[in-house]
Amino acid sequence: MIPVRDDLRELEGYHSPQVDVRVRLNTNESPLPPPAAWRDAFAAELSRVEWHRYPDRQATDLREAIADWHGVTPDMVFAANGSNEVLQTILLAYAGPGRTVATFEPTYQMHAQIARVVGSNVVEGERHDDFTLDPAEIARVTDATRPSVVFITSPNNPTGLVEPAERVTDLLAAAPGLVVADEAYAQFADWSALSLVGEDRPLVVTRTFSKTWSMAGVRLGYAIGPEWFVTELAKVVLPYHLDTAKQIAGRLALRYVDEMDDRVRMIVSERDRLSAAMAAMPIDVTPSGANFILFRPLTVAGRELWQRLLERSVLVRDCSGWPRLADCLRVTVGTPDENDAFLDALQEALA
Ligand code: PMP
Repeated sequence: MIPVRDDLRELEGYHSPQVDVRVRLNTNESPLPPPAAWRDAFAAELSRVEWHRYPDRQATDLREAIADWHGVTPDMVFAANGSNEVLQTILLAYAGPGRTVATFEPTYQMHAQIARVVGSNVVEGERHDDFTLDPAEIARVTDATRPSVVFITSPNNPTGLVEPAERVTDLLAAAPGLVVADEAYAQFADWSALSLVGEDRPLVVTRTFSKTWSMAGVRLGYAIGPEWFVTELAKVVLPYHLDTAKQIAGRLALRYVDEMDDRVRMIVSERDRLSAAMAAMPIDVTPSGANFILFRPLTVAGRELWQRLLERSVLVRDCSGWPRLADCLRVTVGTPDENDAFLDALQEALA
């Protein structure tokens, strides 16, 4: 065996078990597919692709469509293979050896994971027991460690909490480097940091097609940020990283904004129904602005409840072994039928 880089030896991979069950509510995907009209338009365009040619390296049409939708210029849009690759490209450009990346835990594990993989020093700030973020902690972490990149996730994963706008402005005032607002779930919430993005502010917002757009299988995400930032990312990312099919898929998806809004409304209403039903059980429920709910059973261990749900063919995310999340599970909002099946299984499993 050849030894891996010293700093990777202790690192574990990111795991999310894919188990064959009746009701799969563990990875925050959309429970509904994209519209049939999108599928047809996609198939029609695919049949005309010149497959012997490399894709448009600048993803011009896709970036224009994204920019139009958000009311920004295409030079402020960087697209990549899922927002995970967007995050990786940001960290390759702005973090890495000798630089520090700050997170506020618990949050999306890939921020710290990718930061470590690219060789950065990771500093973990803390949250209150109710998972809210104290401005004093933002000041402490940024003053003490001067991070090159600091992450804020809103709505946060796995807690579901929406960060108040002031936390983003606190970070912008305190941080010496880039502030990345990961908004993978923003359309489920009532607030976004997008309106704060501008040339004179080191703020970047990342988004994904994997959730509200029902396109997790496509692997497409993007960042909206200042032009100077997008220019640097374009230097770092591999040539032709976005294949032709993906560029078409994303561009066409943006023709179906109304359908996307309908799906979001359904999921938000189901989320609120689930939260209310769960709150009537012996369970601590974290208020969610996303398409998932973090919860902690009060009468049984989290791991035991996860197992009992699995025995009823319902798969949720087991966060109970993660730091700061003892006994916590996370359920993705599904279709009304899937949510009913989950609630029935939960009731039984708690009895
Ligand atoms: N950010 C957050 C907060 C997420 O929860 C996820 C998906 N689990 C991602 C980014 C990555 O999404 P994708 O790579 O599918 O765009």
